[in-house]
Amino acid sequence: MKKFTKVMALAMSAAMLACVPVSAAETITFGTNAEFPPFEFIAAEGVIDTFDGIDMAIAKQIAEENDMEAKIENMEFDSLLVALQNGQIDAVIAGMTVTEERKEAVDFSTPYYTATQVMIVKEDSDIAKAEDMADKRICVIQGYTGETCVNELGYDYEAFKKGTEAIMELVNGKCDVVVIDSATAQQYVSDNEGLKIVEDPEAFASEEYAIAVQKDNTELLDKINTAIEKMLEDGTISELAATYAEADGEAE
Ligand code: GLN
Repeated sequence: MKKFTKVMALAMSAAMLACVPVSAAETITFGTNAEFPPFEFIAAEGVIDTFDGIDMAIAKQIAEENDMEAKIENMEFDSLLVALQNGQIDAVIAGMTVTEERKEAVDFSTPYYTATQVMIVKEDSDIAKAEDMADKRICVIQGYTGETCVNELGYDYEAFKKGTEAIMELVNGKCDVVVIDSATAQQYVSDNEGLKIVEDPEAFASEEYAIAVQKDNTELLDKINTAIEKMLEDGTISELAATYAEADGEAE
């Protein structure tokens, strides 16, 4: 009888395996704006399709840790939180700084990276502090925290859709300073000759990047947090940051 049960069980599971179609792994659709090296940019061969960068590698690992598959939807930075609220995407990974205002609309994961705003100027610029920007032509990127910072300082500025557009204005002498996140600034400075970074920690506080999910989506947030905390603990995130910083210049 025992043996019969075993045989039956085996036969049944074999039959089930044969009948059940191999279902595709569940997916996590991450929204990003692939204009923010070294966190996200387009490459011939990225870690997820043509998407590469620190965030893309983190997204892939979060999915893998949960036996899921990561998909990327690329859109304008300004559209990300709306797309998340509409359910078009499951999460946002875009070097996104946690802010009080954004926290009203979405929930954030455990932060995974600390950054700060910096100023990119021409090598011969006399800008040494944030207040030196007062009478200069300032460029920011629309919707980035850099825009908020310049706004709070009370200076006029011009906002561009892409970091590369703002950098071109600077390179061509049409603006004097670009305010943007530190790691991305480093990438732009090594990709373009004649530029340097000016820091002013008194004017620009440190910022923390985290992944956003819809409010109260604790199921997904728990999955993301468990994976992020593991990657922070075992050094994966610092390794990724170092690798992509080294690879800059080849990245775009
Ligand atoms: N950290 C900045 C922000 O959150 C810029 C992010 C980005 O451009 N991807 O606004």
